[in-house]
Amino acid sequence: MNHLIRLLPEAIANQIAAGEVVQRPASVVKELLENSIDAGATEISLLVKEGGKTFIQVIDNGMGMSETDARMSFERHATSKIRQFDDMLSLRTFGFRGEALASISAVAQVEMKTRQPSSEVGTVLRIDGSEWKGQELAAADIGTSITVKNLFFNVPARRNFLKSNQVELSHISEELNRVALAWPEVGFSFYQAGVLIQKLSPGKLAHRIAALFGDNYREKIVAISEETDFMKVTGYIGKPEMARKSRGEQYFFANRRFIKNAYLNHAVMTAFEGLLPQTSFPFYALNLEIDPEKIDINVHPTKTEIKFENERFVYSVIQAAVRKALHKTLAVPALDFEPPSPWLSAISPSPKSFETSSDPERSWIPNRQEPASSKPNLDNWNKLFGESKTTVSSRIDRFELENSDSEAQVLPESSRPTEKIDIPEKQGPFNLHGRYLLAQVKSGFMVIHLQRAWERIGYERYLLQMEQKSSASQQLLFPQSIQLPPQDFSLIQEMDVEIRALGIDWEPFGGNAILLRGLPPDAVNQDPVQLFQQFLEQYKWNQSHLQITKSHSVARALAKRNAQQQQFHHWKESELNDLVHQLFACKVPQYAPDQQVVLKVISLEEVAGWLG
Ligand code: ADP
Ligand code: MG
Repeated sequence: MNHLIRLLPEAIANQIAAGEVVQRPASVVKELLENSIDAGATEISLLVKEGGKTFIQVIDNGMGMSETDARMSFERHATSKIRQFDDMLSLRTFGFRGEALASISAVAQVEMKTRQPSSEVGTVLRIDGSEWKGQELAAADIGTSITVKNLFFNVPARRNFLKSNQVELSHISEELNRVALAWPEVGFSFYQAGVLIQKLSPGKLAHRIAALFGDNYREKIVAISEETDFMKVTGYIGKPEMARKSRGEQYFFANRRFIKNAYLNHAVMTAFEGLLPQTSFPFYALNLEIDPEKIDINVHPTKTEIKFENERFVYSVIQAAVRKALHKTLAVPALDFEPPSPWLSAISPSPKSFETSSDPERSWIPNRQEPASSKPNLDNWNKLFGESKTTVSSRIDRFELENSDSEAQVLPESSRPTEKIDIPEKQGPFNLHGRYLLAQVKSGFMVIHLQRAWERIGYERYLLQMEQKSSASQQLLFPQSIQLPPQDFSLIQEMDVEIRALGIDWEPFGGNAILLRGLPPDAVNQDPVQLFQQFLEQYKWNQSHLQITKSHSVARALAKRNAQQQQFHHWKESELNDLVHQLFACKVPQYAPDQQVVLKVISLEEVAGWLG
């Protein structure tokens, strides 16, 4: 009889387990940082090289390990954090499975150096791919230093799966942000290739937020604090005006452990309802202090998803806390923003729907493709800028427009049917609440969505500027310095050529800061720092949601954010007239770059129909 079943060798079992714990360099960083926090460290250094692929080191001043513990710590299910089943219910530490070091050392070359405050001498040990390489006594600082070299050196399939150094670095940076936000009283130093790129001194949470996201956050965050018998919510939310186009800066912690929870995110979003521009995301960093027995952190191997015993209650406490804080800060008259984004009402507020869907917010993200690049109509441009102004009607006369219908299916620009439509007549235009422009046309009237129109105009102009490398920049009277997170700083460097062509003039200003010297001439009436940061946010959003080239992405981002900032209700009639001229000089006046409808003609018959 043949016996086929055998126990897996320990090294292979560890490698398999590592698949769950270690997905990429950032997972290693997360586990090491959490161990340092669990060890009571107050200063932690993180050093990486090549996106963490070849080198990660975490040095802490925590409690260190004895010689035996140092060795034990690499065994699977070796942990100092739980001894019996009940301990798991009242857990306050990050770790408890005793899997991280075993997993990491199964897929990398690891060296640990550690010393407890009570011992004279420390321990050094090395493990390569679960293989013991030796252990000795050695001089060491108090605390622990763990070096992880050549991640996945023995698992080529995993190694090949890793993204560029830049991408891996941004994942690492995000892990650091999460831990650093949850532990503002701990100091962090982040070195990349030997260069200190981020120094976070221990201090208050508000300072930590400013250090991580930029000094301008200081005046733009509002403290949250709400306590019930059952739980406590503390932290900060961003004021509505600083909401971003991407969802990056939203952090929930449960007992200082970063968690993802779409249902609780919804609680915050509904508290902001009506205060945010369309599809934008407010900043928040909120910690929920809750009896560990009331949560189950064990539902996901990488432990970012957790279950609450009484989720509905937690939801309402968070929502009330955020509402209260917003109410206090917005003691100003009603804000005239766009209506709340459609997904807020599209998502069922019932907790059920969140339990079944893994990421309900994704559903709203439009999956639209940028139509094939259309060359701007140079003829029209030259005519527009080179000759004296004619009347709106004579300008529009030349264009054949699709008789746009907002319900109509959006087609790529190249394949849209073109059809002659009526042209606005000389009367008007009429500015409706700074949102729409109304102009009389032969068959009735035309409604133009001002923001989208301005976006279309900017977009085509920027594309042309990039193509012709003909930048025009308006120098700022007072150049502004902006502190950026490291990832953003490298992003700016990457798109230097493009943004200069648009008139964004900048220079490095030490560390990750930049000095903003000039903006495109059509953007000078705006808060330069805000516009720049919003542009950056939009660009990041574009890059992660759209499949378009860098220059299209840059042009779209700037056009969109510039348009959103315009105060159209202050625009004079002559300026509105100019806008109409420029719009109809565009290649595709009827759609914004994201395919939203810019204009619509409403016939007299339709109006008659409404009124009966
Ligand atoms: P877990 O954190 O789940 O217990 P790990 O594999 O991450 O499992 O770590 C195993 C053990 O090694 C921990 O329980 C802890 O006792 C010890 N350890 C790991 N990192 C450190 C550190 N930086 N300082 C002190 N002890 C540590
Ligand atoms: Mg751990």
